[in-house]
Amino acid sequence: MPSVYNWQLGRAMPYPYEQASPKEQFAFVININRCIGCQTCTMACKSTWTFAKGQEHMWWTNVETKPYGGYPHHWDVRILDLLEQANPGAQRWNGKPGDDPHRPYGQFSGKTVFEAPQMVARGSQPNLVLGYLPTDEEWNAPNRFEDHPPHGPSKPMDFGAGTELNGDKKHETWFYYLARLCNHCSYPACLAACPRNAIYKRPEDGIVLIDQQECRGYRKCVEACPYKKSMYRGTTRTSEKCIACYPRVEGNDPECGGAPMETRCMAACIGQVRMQGLVKVGPDSTWIEDRHNPLYYLVHVARVALPLYPQFGTEPNGFYIPPRWVPTKFLEQMFGPGVQAAVERYRNPDRELLAVLQLFRRSNQIIARYEIQEGRKVYQTSVNGRQFEMYDDTIIAYNRLGKEMFRTKVEEPVHVRPAAHANSI
Ligand code: SF4
Ligand code: SF4
Repeated sequence: MPSVYNWQLGRAMPYPYEQASPKEQFAFVININRCIGCQTCTMACKSTWTFAKGQEHMWWTNVETKPYGGYPHHWDVRILDLLEQANPGAQRWNGKPGDDPHRPYGQFSGKTVFEAPQMVARGSQPNLVLGYLPTDEEWNAPNRFEDHPPHGPSKPMDFGAGTELNGDKKHETWFYYLARLCNHCSYPACLAACPRNAIYKRPEDGIVLIDQQECRGYRKCVEACPYKKSMYRGTTRTSEKCIACYPRVEGNDPECGGAPMETRCMAACIGQVRMQGLVKVGPDSTWIEDRHNPLYYLVHVARVALPLYPQFGTEPNGFYIPPRWVPTKFLEQMFGPGVQAAVERYRNPDRELLAVLQLFRRSNQIIARYEIQEGRKVYQTSVNGRQFEMYDDTIIAYNRLGKEMFRTKVEEPVHVRPAAHANSI
């Protein structure tokens, strides 16, 4: 089997196809700390793409409450369990997270879904990817355990006495919202498993699509995708998945004047937690330095945004700013070894990070580049024993066409209504 380079694992790994990186890659960052679980993103996607017959259970984007929620039910626990069975006690990371964009999280020495296919749950048929096919029941009730644990709301989600909580006071009860969509992986497991070559990754933007003419509904992609983001439709007998709102990303929406636009789920986000973009990638899939692309900055410079379950091996292009209040061990399983440092940086943001965080959801268009104009110091304090200073910097966003999209400030302006108009609209 050919060997490809996976920068998230910090090493090469087997993959059924030769390395072939797109020119640019669709990617996104979601700030879990600010998600309010309103499901506006979920409904924006549903009402755009999956409102027809046979698509009732299709939630291309969904928001689940961790640790107990998941759609399909317990998708991540099930695949983690299969990997553990395939490689007992050895799913480990070595080395330390660092600056090298070829190996920012150290090296994963365990097995990926491409390295443990012998554990496939379906019969004796040879398979290329470790996976399982969820039951019909597991595709029911997409938002089970929202805001409450399975054993009743009175029981705390307690992960053991003395659980270390990133330096914050221990909370006995915690949960967080995990907004998910297809990660348009660099090494898609869905594509690797398709016996009809019906799944392809676009060379221009890395978006992964299923050719509906070619698909015969064998559901190999549904079985293989470790994130369970390929879904079967009984009425057409084909599989379907998130299409990354590609007409918008191509700049075809009449609203955007030819500039790439963000997907529906990103643009609709009420909590202003989602940012989508296009990043430049090299021939070995590592990101080419693009210092002032906000996604490059958040993932490779500030290193506050981390991939979702990088150990699966598909090199997902969805990145998350992990929540501050959750035990590190739990987060490390989900986002890899960079968690502790990411949470620390987010809790004590430096001047540039604070400015870049203001870019989330000020526009529907994809931000290609930002610039910061320095402003005066407006505030200082100490956070957990560390000095924190806030400057009223102005941050300017440009689109792909080099046009200024907007400028915004770190300090939110305060408008005081004149006394004559108090209580009037
Ligand atoms: S998340 Fe799943 S469906 Fe999406 S590209 Fe990756 S493997 Fe394929
Ligand atoms: S719209 Fe935004 S805030 Fe609301 S659930 Fe989705 S990601 Fe979270």
